[in-house]
Amino acid sequence: GLSERLQNTIQRMRGKGKISEADVKEMMREVRLALLEADVNFKVVKNFVKTVGERAIGQDVMSSLTPGQQVVKIVNEELTDLMGGEESKLTMSTQPPTVLMMVGLQGAGKTTTTGKLASLLRKKYNKKPLLVAADVYRPAAIQQLETLGKQLDMPVFSMGDQVSPVEIAKKAIEHAKAEHLDYVLIDTAGRLHVDEALMTELVEVKEIAKPDDILLVVDAMTGQDAVNVAQNFNETLELTGVVLTKLDGDTRGGAALSIRSVTGKPIKFVGMGEKLDALEPFHPDRMASRILGMGDVMSLIEKAQANVDEEKAMELANKMKDNSMTFDDFLEQLQQVKQMGPLDDLLKMIPGMNKMKGVENMSIDDKQMAHIEAIIKSMTTKERTDPTLLNASRRRRIATGSGRPVQEVNKLVKQFDEMKKMMKQMSGMGGKKGKKNPLA
Ligand code: GDP
Ligand code: MG
Repeated sequence: GLSERLQNTIQRMRGKGKISEADVKEMMREVRLALLEADVNFKVVKNFVKTVGERAIGQDVMSSLTPGQQVVKIVNEELTDLMGGEESKLTMSTQPPTVLMMVGLQGAGKTTTTGKLASLLRKKYNKKPLLVAADVYRPAAIQQLETLGKQLDMPVFSMGDQVSPVEIAKKAIEHAKAEHLDYVLIDTAGRLHVDEALMTELVEVKEIAKPDDILLVVDAMTGQDAVNVAQNFNETLELTGVVLTKLDGDTRGGAALSIRSVTGKPIKFVGMGEKLDALEPFHPDRMASRILGMGDVMSLIEKAQANVDEEKAMELANKMKDNSMTFDDFLEQLQQVKQMGPLDDLLKMIPGMNKMKGVENMSIDDKQMAHIEAIIKSMTTKERTDPTLLNASRRRRIATGSGRPVQEVNKLVKQFDEMKKMMKQMSGMGGKKGKKNPLA
């Protein structure tokens, strides 16, 4: 992923005040590869890299960030922008029922998404939806929706498979009006490939149902194909939005970026699993991080920027570089990091860190903070500066002095080491492997 790719470049870019053209060129080469790897359309990639490059060159580097982080920040912002910036909501009709028409290829997840969406509308907005079985072609499609309706305890409108989808849609809307239901969700048929007959029929359903939203459901795993499908459906039906399903798979989600920039239509929801609650509003910023493979490193950068005193951060970054961070710095850092929120949350945002052993035991509350302080205060100045001095007898002395068990002293020394690693990640996003810790 990009995070690994960029490590070396980021390292080299450290400690500069301005981003140079050569730096940007090198970074952009990696960004381009990462995007292509995530299955983003090559034309989209080309334009994107150009835009970011122009924006980044010559920019001043914020003192709390390294130049590499700053470029990544720009990349992330532009990616987010490309995907619509903000969350795009469903359209709501002023006159109920609001009609949603779900379209897409077979197997994309239309029926499942119809159920998920209905469930979300009820749970989040307290709305009464009607599920409409308008796929009269796929064997057992009607039954599938009826089963979903039972699971959700929600009404399903069906007229069997001998009635045209147009007629079903019309009757369903009449029914919803009569029953004072708020939403009509029409689950339509798909084909394995886009074809004329399907499109003609969907256009007819659209004319009768006058949907407030026409949502194309696409499988994120299909990558570039999803873009062609989206283009096709959009040309004939004028979509109002897209639902990207199966993002729980190992796809990077590059399709999201391409679909948005090729069709101009917003992605409104993402499917994150087979279960009925696995539907989420689409967040462009999160998708940007996913495409880049940067975990939530952006939010980390932003948090760090907002909370850590810039001068001190720089000072510390330098200390980390020459491996001279002391327990005093550690204590100060702990206090700062604590202001940013739970330490384990923070650690999870660092790529690779969530897999690191011991992270789950690293949350720190106020009481623990006091203990840590007591232990550190029981160290001599020399020990605080040079943890390698901390042999067994010194640790026992510190334990006695601070009134804490020796295991806790050991744990702290270990945490100090972890913290050093973490701060190294924060200052250089990983970087080359540090010297082996003599205490480990
Ligand atoms: P349709 O032919 O478009 O109506 O597709 P279905 O709703 O029948 O879904 C096809 C398959 O994809 C089913 O096995 C669903 O459980 C599965 N599916 C749908 N959405 C998701 C998702 O977000 N994640 C995963 N993992 N599977 C999904
Ligand atoms: Mg279906």
